[in-house]
Amino acid sequence: MAILLFMITRNFLTFDIEEWFHANYDGIDSSQYDFQSTELEANVDRLIAICDTFNVKSTCFILGDVARHKPHIVKKLFDAGHEIASHGSSHKLIYPMTPDEFRTDIQMSSEILEQIIGEKVIGFRAPSWSVKSDTLSWFYEVLAEEGFLYSSSVYPAKNTLFGIESFPDTPHYPSSAKILEIPQSVMKLFGNRVGYAGGGYLRFFPTWLIKRVVRAKNNEGKSVFIYVHPREIDIHQPRLQLGWMDGYFHYQGIAGCEEKLSLLLEEFSSSFIRMDDYATKVSAGEISV
Ligand SMILES: [Zn+2]
Repeated sequence: MAILLFMITRNFLTFDIEEWFHANYDGIDSSQYDFQSTELEANVDRLIAICDTFNVKSTCFILGDVARHKPHIVKKLFDAGHEIASHGSSHKLIYPMTPDEFRTDIQMSSEILEQIIGEKVIGFRAPSWSVKSDTLSWFYEVLAEEGFLYSSSVYPAKNTLFGIESFPDTPHYPSSAKILEIPQSVMKLFGNRVGYAGGGYLRFFPTWLIKRVVRAKNNEGKSVFIYVHPREIDIHQPRLQLGWMDGYFHYQGIAGCEEKLSLLLEEFSSSFIRMDDYATKVSAGEISV
């Protein structure tokens, strides 16, 4: 019975807690924008309320810069029972960094998050899934040396911005560094892998299709994770000046995103666990990946 329970209780709800201007497109410099007077806190409050409605605890990958400017948001999420994890310091892409630059970036992020919550942060998500094949050789080693237990940083498919097509699409240990990677959930569409449960993918595909794929994956014993950014439920957010294709991917489907999230949580509410709980159980050998 215990085994059966673990088989069905391992989907993840994750939020990347960042401002509306944190995006890694050419020509966008997020350092020029102001952290004050944004709707981030109001949007986070709405996400917390949705989670409360369906009694779901999420994992929140929070930017160090957000924690520095708005520590009360971190505390609010923590007090509501959500996991506080790291999304790096200032939303810099990982692959152009040296290992030492990456180490400094995650140290700064962990320091401020841990200072606010009084607990160790053990989960990391790369900004914009910016881990490439040649980054993997040092990425997990640095995370392990800095005390992390898991990462949720790889898009195991390809799009114009990110992804590693050949990467396994289920949780596993990619290296001897003993960091569990929980890759983004993908489905097969016309023979190619593509995301469906987060960000622009979640906003693009209809709810009935997403539900069907989640059910099918779970029936195969595979976990699924949903991810949403606070700005994705905010139709009034300011707009970045993007080309038509990036602009479409970045902004389509926002009007219906909050309702879509609610419908997914309504159906799968009993299946979600926090990533730290999952990674800790896997690490202890209590459940297998
Ligand atoms: Zn992000």
